[in-house]
Amino acid sequence: MAPHPSTWLQPRPEGLFCLPGGFFIDPTRAVDRALITHGHADHARPGHAHVLASAETLAIMQVRMAEGKAGTVQQAAIPGERIRVNDVDIRFVPAGHVLGSCQIVLDYQGSRVVISGDYKRQPDPTCAPFEPMICDVFVTEATFGLPIFRHPNATDEMARLLASVALFPQRPHLIGAYGLGKTQRLIALLRQAGYDAPIFLHGALVKLCALYENFGVALGDLRPATIADKSALHGAIVLAPPSAIADRWARRLDDPVIAAASGWMGVRQRAKASLVELPLVISDHADWAAILHTIAQTEAPEIWVTHGAEAALIHQLGLLGLRGRALALIGYGDDGEVA
Ligand SMILES: [Zn+2]
Ligand SMILES: [Zn+2]
Repeated sequence: MAPHPSTWLQPRPEGLFCLPGGFFIDPTRAVDRALITHGHADHARPGHAHVLASAETLAIMQVRMAEGKAGTVQQAAIPGERIRVNDVDIRFVPAGHVLGSCQIVLDYQGSRVVISGDYKRQPDPTCAPFEPMICDVFVTEATFGLPIFRHPNATDEMARLLASVALFPQRPHLIGAYGLGKTQRLIALLRQAGYDAPIFLHGALVKLCALYENFGVALGDLRPATIADKSALHGAIVLAPPSAIADRWARRLDDPVIAAASGWMGVRQRAKASLVELPLVISDHADWAAILHTIAQTEAPEIWVTHGAEAALIHQLGLLGLRGRALALIGYGDDGEVA
């Protein structure tokens, strides 16, 4: 009989640990062997000795971390290919969250666990779509694991942005967006919608946009917002990290329409409190319905919840006749979408 996953995969203070493989998944502290699902700072930490991740994630880590901190030894996992470590078969499978994001599939003595990392099910022109995998235990995030979270189509949200740009042709539209994933997805969605004017970037967003382009994600005409004179930004779309919106940086813009793109913009009080005039509900995480749909597709009888709103999800799993387990892992959820 195949061993139950809880006998060979265990939550530890550093993160999930695979005993027969001797590696951690997305450890929050520096460890000897780390498998990394994606490049967000809460999952990809500096200082590991050996890092196994997709080529994109490794490149993102190199751009974001100090010299020599992105893993002493870096090994690129090709999505779909099997890698054997001791008696464990490892496979990286796309998660649809950001460029290079992968679920990690572990097979050990006939028992299979899939660790989702962060994921979403809406189409995203900047990364490969989530592939559901049948398994014995599905380890899921639950950032938006409450029934109140229903993310509208991102394309509809971008149409609202473009309608506002048409309505206020003189005002710059300043959008708060995180540097890894959200920024590039917004730009790609604008290009898909036929918007081919230059898009202006805060300096903190430039490097990762270049990295996306190096991996074949075309983003069109991008220009630094810092060197443009004020009048060049009239009627333009400007992207900046959310932290820059409230500070002096934003003063270079005349009477901007302040927008922000996040799953949290679906919560009216939050959008109001943040003084955002144009909230765009665009999330790189699965909403409530997408989490439940994904769980059903995995056919897993048991679900482990890593981080987010686990209580509601575990209650719902009980109603569905599935076993739910809160791992209550500490140190995740700070990937920019979490306020
Ligand atoms: Zn993430
Ligand atoms: Zn995360």
